[in-house]
Amino acid sequence: MSYSFMDNVRKVTPYVPGEQPEGKVIKLNTNENPYPPAPAVGEILAATDADILKKYPEADIGPLVRALAKEYGVDPKQVFVGVGSDDVIGMIFLSCFAGEKAVAFPDVTYSFYDVWAELFRVPYKQIPLKEDFTIDIDDYDGQWGGIIIANPNAPTSIELEISKVEELVKRHPECIVVIDEAYVDFGGTSALSLIPKYPNLLVTQTFSKSRSLAGMRIGFAIGSEQVIKAINDVKYSYNSYTLNRTAIAAGVASLSDRDYFEKTCARVMKTREAAKKELAALGFSFPESKTNFLFVTHESVPAEYLQKELKKRDIYVRFWNKPRIDNRLRITIGTDEEMAALFAALREIIGQCR
Ligand code: PMP
Repeated sequence: MSYSFMDNVRKVTPYVPGEQPEGKVIKLNTNENPYPPAPAVGEILAATDADILKKYPEADIGPLVRALAKEYGVDPKQVFVGVGSDDVIGMIFLSCFAGEKAVAFPDVTYSFYDVWAELFRVPYKQIPLKEDFTIDIDDYDGQWGGIIIANPNAPTSIELEISKVEELVKRHPECIVVIDEAYVDFGGTSALSLIPKYPNLLVTQTFSKSRSLAGMRIGFAIGSEQVIKAINDVKYSYNSYTLNRTAIAAGVASLSDRDYFEKTCARVMKTREAAKKELAALGFSFPESKTNFLFVTHESVPAEYLQKELKKRDIYVRFWNKPRIDNRLRITIGTDEEMAALFAALREIIGQCR
């Protein structure tokens, strides 16, 4: 019998992130914001003296934790910050979903959840969305080791109304309920107001979408002190210096300009509403979106064909060859000019199919 050193190596099926093509393309495939970060972010970066980098950053991410606590009206002990919400949610899987019971999440949702569950050996159950891609909280009745729901959900763009979110949290005191609000700033209602009432509720958000800082990697969770401490204990058992000094300063700068943040989100939402009309006229249908993307299907042209044809024209949108969603495209809302180029390309491609 022969042995290989690879026998001792862990094999996992990784999450596949959206393509990051080089060069001048129209990139509507990873839900980035088309507008720049707040001007204060650029100013901080320009004024940064490289000499500060010889020191480790603040392990507790203090300046950004305090700025977030002030912004959202909570105690700094209720805030956990990580390297994007991917890092935050990964830490939550590792720290908060450590029981024997399964963790529940929808079958169509952010496709990283099952990857973390596999990686951290967390038992899980995927609960099918309804035919129209909505969540029915009655489907979650039972006892769980945790529940995680993206709200608004991705890639469907659909929001579960806040009264239903509250009902779900209330019905499940046996576990931590995580609401992943990566897209909430584009017209959704946050569950942050429920935090004082429910110590088992954790809300995660990100600077990657509404704050135009995907490249900086900043995410956070807000919850009860005891749960945030448990997540921090796991973080300090793995890597104490997570956010770098530049990211901490950029995050604080971003929070300092609420007016810019609100205007940028409003601009994206305005373009989204206009895009809905254009796409409907082209024969697309989609659920009501509370996000910076639309989850579309065409009446006659298959999604995969559209994605390939758009790519030939240097326009990137997201397609998944997965059950239930394999005739859908997720289209990020870009600038008005980018969207106009998308509509022109779609008009041409669809026209050729008629
Ligand atoms: N949650 C959802 C639902 C997402 O779509 C994303 C973005 N891919 C994330 C979390 C993670 O975003 P980030 O790590 O950039 O904060």
